Amino acid sequence: MSSNARAKVRLFVEQPLGAVQPVPLTREQAHYLFGVMRMGVGDSVALFNGQDGEWQAEVAEAGKRGGTLVCREQSQPQVMPPDIWLMFAPIKKARTDFIVEKAVEMGVRRVMPVHTAHTNSERIRQDRLQAHAVEAAEQCGGVFVPEVVELIKLDRVLGSWDTGRRIAFCDEALAGETGRLPDAPGPWAILIGPEGGFSEHERKRLRGMACASPISLGPRILRADTAAVAALTLWQSTLGDWA
Ligand code: SAH
Repeated sequence: MSSNARAKVRLFVEQPLGAVQPVPLTREQAHYLFGVMRMGVGDSVALFNGQDGEWQAEVAEAGKRGGTLVCREQSQPQVMPPDIWLMFAPIKKARTDFIVEKAVEMGVRRVMPVHTAHTNSERIRQDRLQAHAVEAAEQCGGVFVPEVVELIKLDRVLGSWDTGRRIAFCDEALAGETGRLPDAPGPWAILIGPEGGFSEHERKRLRGMACASPISLGPRILRADTAAVAALTLWQSTLGDWA
C-alpha cells in the first residue's frame, strides 16, 4: 500500500480489529471525525487498539452522535516497544505532560510516576496523562499505548522490586563523572528524579541494590524533562529498538 493511500487520521479504539470488522464510534470519536475533521462516508481512517496492529478502515455510517467504521486491511503488524519502563517524579503539569508524551514517542512499555522525597506535586491526574499517551501514540504512528500507572511512592516501588528488571538510576550526583549504561539486555526501568534531585537516603538505597546501575547523563545538570528524553535516547540506542 502506498503511503499516500493511507488515511491521514489515526484513531486509537478499544474494539478488536480485523478484516471486515465493524467498529462503532463513540460520540467523541464521531464528533472528531465528522465535525472537526469533516470526514464522511467512504473516507479512510487508520485504527489501532494496542493489540491488533494498524488497520485502514472506511467510514460506513457517519452521524452527529455516532457512526461506524469498517476495517479493510492491516497496514502495520502489532509491534511492542522494548521492555523499558520510565519512572519519573512528577514535576509541574506542563512538564509532566511533556515527559509522558515524549516517553510514548521514544517507545516505552510503561510509564510510572513515582513520589520521591523531594517531589513537590502530591497528585497527578492519571486519566489526563493516559489520554496524553493515547494522543501521542496516534500522532507518532505507534501501534502501542503504554499504561500510565497511578502515582506510587518510590520506597514502595523499590520495596517490592523484581530484581530481574534492572534500573538505570539517573543520578545527578554523577554529572561529569563516569556512570555508563551497562550493556546488559533484558527488562529495564529508567529512574529520573524531581527538580530537587534525590535525597541521600534514596541515593544510598538505590546504590545498595545490585540490579540498579547509577548512570551519568553528562557533565551538565539537566532538567527532569530533558533528562527523561536523554536517558531514553541513550537506552534505545544501545539496548533498545533503534538498532
Ligand atoms: N536539583 C538537582 C538536579 C535535579 S535534575 C541538583 O541541582 O543537583 C532532575 C533529575 O534529572 C535528576 O534527579 C536526575 O535523575 C536527572 N539528571 C539531571 N542531570 C543529570 C546528569 N547529568 N546525570 C544523571 N542524571 C541527571
